[in-house]
Amino acid sequence: MEYYNPQLLFIHPTFFYQEPYHKDLFYRDFPLKALELSAILKKNKKIKTHFLDLRFEKDLTKFFSKAKFNDQQFEKAFIKVLEKESIQDLQNVGIISTSSFEFLQIEKISKIIKNNFPKINIIVAGHHPSAVPNNFIEKSKNYDIIIEGKPEIAFLNLFTTSLLNKVKKRKKPFLIKPKDVFNLNDVPLPDYDTYLQKYKDKTELIFTISASEGCPFHCRFCKIPRTKFRNYSFVNFLERFENLQNLIMRWNYQNPKIGFLDQSFNSALLSNKILKYIIERKLQDQYRFSCQTRIEIVSNHKNLLSLFKKAKMVVGYGFESANKGILYEMRKTSNPTAYIKKMKEILEFYENISEPYCRLNIIAGFPGENNETFLDTIEFLETYALHPNVQINPTIYINDPNTYVYKNMDYYHKTFQSMFLKEWWKIDSDPLKNSIPLKSSKNYHRSQLVKDYVERYRNILVKFKYSSIPSLINWKKYFGNWSKNLT
Ligand code: SF4
Repeated sequence: MEYYNPQLLFIHPTFFYQEPYHKDLFYRDFPLKALELSAILKKNKKIKTHFLDLRFEKDLTKFFSKAKFNDQQFEKAFIKVLEKESIQDLQNVGIISTSSFEFLQIEKISKIIKNNFPKINIIVAGHHPSAVPNNFIEKSKNYDIIIEGKPEIAFLNLFTTSLLNKVKKRKKPFLIKPKDVFNLNDVPLPDYDTYLQKYKDKTELIFTISASEGCPFHCRFCKIPRTKFRNYSFVNFLERFENLQNLIMRWNYQNPKIGFLDQSFNSALLSNKILKYIIERKLQDQYRFSCQTRIEIVSNHKNLLSLFKKAKMVVGYGFESANKGILYEMRKTSNPTAYIKKMKEILEFYENISEPYCRLNIIAGFPGENNETFLDTIEFLETYALHPNVQINPTIYINDPNTYVYKNMDYYHKTFQSMFLKEWWKIDSDPLKNSIPLKSSKNYHRSQLVKDYVERYRNILVKFKYSSIPSLINWKKYFGNWSKNLT
């Protein structure tokens, strides 16, 4: 296929101060939004795109793990990497953020590009520019176009209108807030091909697909933007699903994994259809499937459990806490008693089968958490979930700028005396640690939370039959060392 200029390089940023534990969390996924945008631009505008995933650029990775490094050396290494991408022939760079952790790195790399290749337009979009666009406007010299919100239509318009030609004449960047959303059923399969041509050895990354977009729920810890919940048509879903399978076979993957990205494998009707499709074609013998869903959805549609079993679909349940007050504060449910009961029933199902296992997501340290509420969850897990067929996945609450909590910190401070670090992503040290509130509640300091978290989950995590020893070691080392440093 022939593509017209201008060319566009998508850069997937990462962050500094990384330890092996961060890699276990952040090195498993394709840069999906960039791959989707690339496919949309190719299909609709014949624009040539390519990718630079900083996580996998060998000449740069040493800088990501160092506490301190020489800025000039980083700049030199980064320019060398850009030159391999023929940066001098490019007109546009798109930096697509997936997490606020990346903020300082985005600033650094944008500045380097601006200083060394001033003709290039820098477009930033994705998570952080949508959550806190002002952070980019403040540093206006580094950026030309900031997209706040869903970027598909904005990117298409950029390459249709004369906006890209005008940006250089302005002193301030353009802030684009797209009002229209791209028709879901026109979204092509993400541009995995172009990405894999460059990063051929990334066989461990998980291929993903969605049957819906957005989420109708309002959990207060959730960083997913509040967009309208929409389903793809089943016909469109099937077309993309079949294309994805063909693509995976083309790349000759061993033991391929397909993750359903839907925020909550939501519509029981659609889930039923998808699961039956998988089972009828015995796709579960070829692929390892996973998805995430809500406890109420499965509890209200019990037939889903047997379909999950037949399709060998590993399901992640966002349980989050066994304390009723915390569940209510999270707006996870309006009926915590029934919710906890439903969770027990689902766990019973998994404890009576050998495959597939299920995953239970837990959040420790949500604002309002104290030692007693923390222990309520531990007690629940030890009583009902400690089983080889149940993977318990505990995380500590991250105060992402897109959450309800971040936008209402005063409420939590007044109600629970929680304490937060505002704009933690601007602090030049480990962003994961900085994102965790200083106090969940009056007497529950971060140091105590981290200590309890390591001590109590250490024994729980080893019970799962497929526990990865290297990942457990990384987890223990990261939180164990942090706990020691905090006390
Ligand atoms: S946590 Fe899951 S269910 Fe809750 S709002 Fe976010 S995506 Fe929806």
